[in-house]
Amino acid sequence: MISSTNFHPSTAAAGPRLSSFFHRRHSAAFISPASPFQFLFCGAAIRRRLRSLTVRSIDAAQPYDYESMISNQFQKSIKLKVAIVGFGNFGQFLAKAIVRQGHTVLAYSRSDYTEAAARLGVTFFNDADDLCEEHPEVILLCTSILSTEAVLRSLPLQRLKRSTLFVDVLSVKEFPRNLFMQILPTDFDILCTHPMFGPESGKNGWTDLTFVYDKVRIGDEELKTLRAERFLNIFAEEGCRMVEMSCAEHDRHAAGSQFITHTTGRILEKLMLTSTPINTKGYETLLNLVENTAGDSFDLYYGLFMYNNNAMEQLERLDLAFESLKKELFGHLHGVLRKQLFGKSESLEGERLKLSKLPQNNHTALLPSEMVRGVDNK
Ligand code: NAP
Repeated sequence: MISSTNFHPSTAAAGPRLSSFFHRRHSAAFISPASPFQFLFCGAAIRRRLRSLTVRSIDAAQPYDYESMISNQFQKSIKLKVAIVGFGNFGQFLAKAIVRQGHTVLAYSRSDYTEAAARLGVTFFNDADDLCEEHPEVILLCTSILSTEAVLRSLPLQRLKRSTLFVDVLSVKEFPRNLFMQILPTDFDILCTHPMFGPESGKNGWTDLTFVYDKVRIGDEELKTLRAERFLNIFAEEGCRMVEMSCAEHDRHAAGSQFITHTTGRILEKLMLTSTPINTKGYETLLNLVENTAGDSFDLYYGLFMYNNNAMEQLERLDLAFESLKKELFGHLHGVLRKQLFGKSESLEGERLKLSKLPQNNHTALLPSEMVRGVDNK
C-alpha cells in the first residue's frame, strides 16, 4: 500500500495554478486538500469525473483535447522526492534538470559531495540510512555499472517506504533489470532507463535527445502508474525523444551503436589527434567524438563491454572489418607491385579474380610457395 505522504505536490509553482484551474470549473469540494495524498486523490477523482463527462459529450465539438490538457497540467503539478544514489558526473548532471523542474532532490554517494550538492539545490547525505529515512518516492541509481550490485546490496531497503520506485540510468539495461528483479522486494516498482546522452552531448539542452525506458514492473494501482509517468515526464518535458523498448532490445542496439562509438573514440584518443590549420568537417567530427567519449570514465566504457552480452561480438566484428580493409588495400598494392616487377599489363581485376579462386579459410594456400613446398616434403 502507498501511504498518504508518498507524493508531495508542490505548494509553489504549478500546484496552486492547477487548483485554481479546477476551482473555476468544478466544485470547491475537490480542492484545498488537507494532505498531499488527498491532493493526488482529488486529482484522480477529478480525472475520473472528466473522463465520464468527456464520454457523455462525445458528440459535442471539442476545440482541443480537454482531458489530455488537464492530465498534462495535473502531471506537472505533482512534485516528486527523488533520491539520487551515486552523485558523480552523471548524477549531478541529471540533478540540475530535476531540481529546475521543482522536484525535491536528495543525494547519497561514496564520496562527500556536500558542497557540490548545495550549489545545485540538493540535500546531500553521507549515510544511506539517513537518506532512506527521508522516504523518497523515487530512488534514482546513478552509480557506475561496475559498482551497481555492491551499492544496491548495501542500501538499507527496509528503511524505505514499502512502495518505492527504483529507477536506474545505467548504459546497459539487462544487467540492472535482472539485479533489481532479484534484489528488490516485490512491492517496489522498477523502471529501467537510459538517457542516450551525457554532460557533453546534453550540455546545450536535451531537446530531441533520446531517452530509452522499460517499465519493467509498475504496479496496476493508479498512484503507481502516475508516479512512474510523472518521473518519465521529467525527461519528456525537457524535450527528449521518449523511446519505450525492452532492456534486451536496448542492449542489442546499444552494442552495435554506442559501444562502437565509444570504442572508436577511445582508439582515436590513443592516436592523440590534434587540430590542424586545414581541418575538414569529417576530421572535426572525429575530434568531437574523442572529446565526447574520452570525458567519460574508463569504468563506464569497461561496463559497456563487460555487462552487455552483445559487446564482445561487436568488438570482434570491428577487428574483422579492420583486417578486411587492410587486406583490400594490400590486395591493390600487390597488383601494382606485380605490374612494376613483371612489366605486364595484368589488370588489377584479373589479379583479384585469381586471388578469389584461392581456397577460402585455408591458411596454407596463403603461405609463400617455398614454405608450402617445405611442408609437402615432410
Ligand atoms: P561512472 O564512472 O560510470 O560512475 C560514477 C559514479 O559511480 C559515481 O557516483 C561514483 O561515486 C560511483 N561509484 C563508482 N565506484 C563505486 C564504488 N566502488 N562504490 C560506490 N560508488 C561507486 O560515471 P558517470 O558518468 O557518473 O556514470 C554514472 C552512471 O550513469 C553509469 O551507470 C553510466 O552508465 C550512466 N550513464 C552515464 C552517461 C554519461 O554520459 N556519463 C550517460 C548515460 C548513462 P563517487 O563519485 O561517490 O565515488
